[in-house]
Amino acid sequence: MAEIRIRNLHKQFTDFTAVKNSSLVLEDGKFVVLLGPSGCGKTTTLRMIAGLEYPTSGQITLDGDDVTYLRPRERDIAMVFQLFALYPHLGVRGNLEFPLRNEGVPRIEIDKRVEETAAILRIGHLLDSSVNGLSGGDRQRVALGRAIVRQPKAFLMDEPLGTLDAEFRELMCVELRKLHDRLKTTTVFVTHDQNEAMALADHIVVMDKGEILQADDPHGIYNFPATLFVARFIGRPPMNLIGADAPVVPGDTSVRIARRNIAVPRVDATSTQVVLGIRPEHVRLCGSDEGCLGGRVKHVEYFGSHWVVEVETEAGALKALADKSARPEQGLQVGLRFDTRRVVLFDAGTEKLLA
Ligand code: ATP
Repeated sequence: MAEIRIRNLHKQFTDFTAVKNSSLVLEDGKFVVLLGPSGCGKTTTLRMIAGLEYPTSGQITLDGDDVTYLRPRERDIAMVFQLFALYPHLGVRGNLEFPLRNEGVPRIEIDKRVEETAAILRIGHLLDSSVNGLSGGDRQRVALGRAIVRQPKAFLMDEPLGTLDAEFRELMCVELRKLHDRLKTTTVFVTHDQNEAMALADHIVVMDKGEILQADDPHGIYNFPATLFVARFIGRPPMNLIGADAPVVPGDTSVRIARRNIAVPRVDATSTQVVLGIRPEHVRLCGSDEGCLGGRVKHVEYFGSHWVVEVETEAGALKALADKSARPEQGLQVGLRFDTRRVVLFDAGTEKLLA
């Protein structure tokens, strides 16, 4: 097990900055997911932790030891890639043994660890099979097994589920999380899929354009996004974001939107323009004169357990959840009621969370 710290990590590729002065503590035994859009620097960060890439500046420590410029082998960290190349001529057992033989582990210890790993991954019955005929999921398990068998201080995984179909991905997600609960090995997992991140992570690190925007548990990321980017990126349908003038009196707890007062959290900042954020599940439909905002139903999407209703209001198109059995009719005049305890406010200029 291991605590990984990165300090002011910076990676410049000739004229392109892939990672910008990032600092982060990856706590011992936690499952940490690096999440962000394509090209945001997740893989580069992971490769620097693995030793497959060296930073331009900054430091990486593993349990307090500086490993910034150590070679991958010297770090006691195991990397699981998306396109895991299993050795086709070795069979399942041979593939699992390979990393241990390489390290010169005694035969008796190799046999013990291979059996244990196969039991954990439930591939004991496949040990004497060829890897060529294996299903995608079993290949994935063997690939994971090759990492587990080494008993490393940490696992690094770069979109390991990326090639699987949706249903199987979900299953593997559950398996991975259960595996982590059992082994409790510090894990850093890269994905651009927020559902995967939410399902797996103790902590999510949201990145964009080489910068860490927020590092928090899934609850914090979802409910208190640190910036407008995180608010837009996390959650489907996304958070409703409405521009408004800041409270005139500092400390006031309402803003005016479309001639209505909307309760907001108390903020002491001096912002003049704010953005009010509220998730669709915290907006309910009501009678047109009961809500804090009125509008007309523009579009309705059915999700089985609920409807997502898009309502055109004076403050723009906003989404609400409706769990009524009757489908809200397009064009219907409705009111929207906000659960004001769930409202968040951003500074429109800095795009940062105020409260
Ligand atoms: P993806 O999900 O697409 O892999 P990512 O968030 O993992 O995205 P990185 O692979 O870390 O992103 O890449 C970040 C940026 O750095 C990208 O724009 C990429 O083109 C660039 N980059 C990565 N490696 C190199 C390299 N060796 N030389 C030049 N640019 C690179």
